[in-house]
Amino acid sequence: MVTVRNIVVLTGAGISAESGLATFRGPGGLWEGHRVEDICTPEALDRDEALVLGFYDARRRGLAHVAPNAAHRALAKLEAEWPGKLLIVTQNVDDLHERAGSRRLIHMHGELLSALCRVCGEHTAFAGDMIGGTVCPSCSARDRLRPDIVFFGEMPYEMEPIEQALIACDLFVSIGTSGAVYPAAGFVQIANATNAWTLELNLDRSAGSHHFDDARYGAASQLVPEWVDSVLAMA
Ligand code: NAD
Ligand code: ZN
Repeated sequence: MVTVRNIVVLTGAGISAESGLATFRGPGGLWEGHRVEDICTPEALDRDEALVLGFYDARRRGLAHVAPNAAHRALAKLEAEWPGKLLIVTQNVDDLHERAGSRRLIHMHGELLSALCRVCGEHTAFAGDMIGGTVCPSCSARDRLRPDIVFFGEMPYEMEPIEQALIACDLFVSIGTSGAVYPAAGFVQIANATNAWTLELNLDRSAGSHHFDDARYGAASQLVPEWVDSVLAMA
């Protein structure tokens, strides 16, 4: 294995599962009882705004009832103690990484605690409900805020810094993601192309398992602290 300085960690819904947040394709292929295409597309928002806003209002309210688990905490410890660089790229829209203490973090699919104005395009911190009325703090437009979530068909955030970090990393670790949603599912191949070592930590084999140099299967709350301790031991 090469000497490791720069680490990029990609996380998905699996890292938050043991905190009590449902993964994307839970039982029956549904997310919290809904088909993804009825909730997570710009067309769904146009067709049934109340359904989509209400769905994300419920997810946002749900954040009050969950807490980071040992896997989130281990990644925050790694950031605090690792002498090289660490970037966490999360597909999650929850705030459990930041609540655990992670700071160098990109939410590539947006955040529940942010609103996007459909008039002026501003992103603003948002903690309440959208159903019942909103006013954009930037342009004062009424009822034009939407969840600041990257829907299917929309461009994920901050792809350039993410790609640069992937090209520069020596170690890429994918945690709790099914490898089914692109472009995140392709990150392992970008890292491989520049000779980084690649590791998958997941409950079971993901769609892209064969692209990784190494893999460990089990619960994130167990695997991630073990892996962090092994990385810090070689620092
Ligand atoms: P996914 O639901 O498609 O896959 C989750 C993966 O995690 C699966 O491979 C599963 O085997 C694994 N997993 C489940 N429990 C685990 C555990 N305890 N430990 C380790 N692994 C576990 O999730 P994804 O790949 O992140 O899907 C992408 C989309 O889901 C993202 O766009 C994201 O925005 C959205 N999403 C986010 C949240 C959240 O913010 N918490 C929740 C649901 C969906
Ligand atoms: Zn606005």
